[in-house]
Amino acid sequence: RAKHEGRKRHCFFSQALEESLMARQEIEQWLRHAIRKDQLEVYYQPKIHLNNGQIYGAEALVRLKDPNGAIISPDKFIGLAEEVGLAPELGRQVLVKACKAAKKWLNTNSNFTISVNVSAAQLRSRLFAQELSDILRSIGFPTGNLEIEVTESMLMEDIDLVQNTFSACHDLGIKIAIDDFGTGYSSLSYLKKFRVDTLKIDQSFVRDMTTDKNDCDIVKAVIQLGRSLNIDLCAEGIELEEQYAQLREMGCEQGQGYLFGRPVPLKEFDQLLKDTVDLSLLQTNSH
Ligand code: C2E
Ligand code: MG
Ligand code: MG
Ligand code: MG
Repeated sequence: RAKHEGRKRHCFFSQALEESLMARQEIEQWLRHAIRKDQLEVYYQPKIHLNNGQIYGAEALVRLKDPNGAIISPDKFIGLAEEVGLAPELGRQVLVKACKAAKKWLNTNSNFTISVNVSAAQLRSRLFAQELSDILRSIGFPTGNLEIEVTESMLMEDIDLVQNTFSACHDLGIKIAIDDFGTGYSSLSYLKKFRVDTLKIDQSFVRDMTTDKNDCDIVKAVIQLGRSLNIDLCAEGIELEEQYAQLREMGCEQGQGYLFGRPVPLKEFDQLLKDTVDLSLLQTNSH
């Protein structure tokens, strides 16, 4: 009987494994196709000044569509892209699309900052900063309006290389943010070594900060850390008014989250910015 159950369980596992392998193969195929045809989509999520609620920029977030047009989340294909060597080209295409889009948005707000996520494979290239600079020049996008987001674990791979890349980026005027701050297993000493402009407080701390004292204390500590090192703070995943109020009170400068806006396609973000400008014109005129 035990033998029988064992076999059944074995069957169950191998079937699940086979299904997930097939799903991976399918996603890889769609991803290759989308990259070849330059059909990756980029969504934009507003980034907000917490003190006045105004939009100061956007984060570019890649999206892949399956043949039926259903959206596949990047959590399902970024790791895969890294494994099969597609991450550098994916990153390049997202950067080009995002900077072309943001170039228009600079017309309404010359301080508009576009944030682009960078993969480990991109950061591993010695030519990364040079490539960024070449792409920005060819688009005619000002380096000072680009921020790249990297995660902590990427920093510890090759410290000298990252240090060189970050200073080259800084010399170009490109800003650097540490994404998902607090979730990596890295040492804080890198904050002294690398020149970092922004710490993005991970959404897992923000989610429960109004109900869990530990999370609240962590958020407070990160804000103090940023302050004493003169690094800006951006809270991710703000969904509730209470979180917004607390973060603002704690002195967190920037934030993003569903409370202010979900990631949306290019056209919708265009409209969002336009509506915001119309609204502020309306307010100025009525005074
Ligand atoms: P991330 O860079 O930390 O991006 C934040 C994620 O949180 C996004 O998920 C965003 O849609 C989601 N989010 C924003 N506000 C809220 C909120 O209020 N509540 C909740 N629950 N979630 C919120 P998304 O778009 O699925 O992206 C997941 C991750 O995939 C990103 O995390 C980033 O690490 C990676 N990624 C996305 N686009 C790119 C890209 O172009 N290149 C690379 N290398 N990675 C990317
Ligand atoms: Mg990010
Ligand atoms: Mg994040
Ligand atoms: Mg993340």
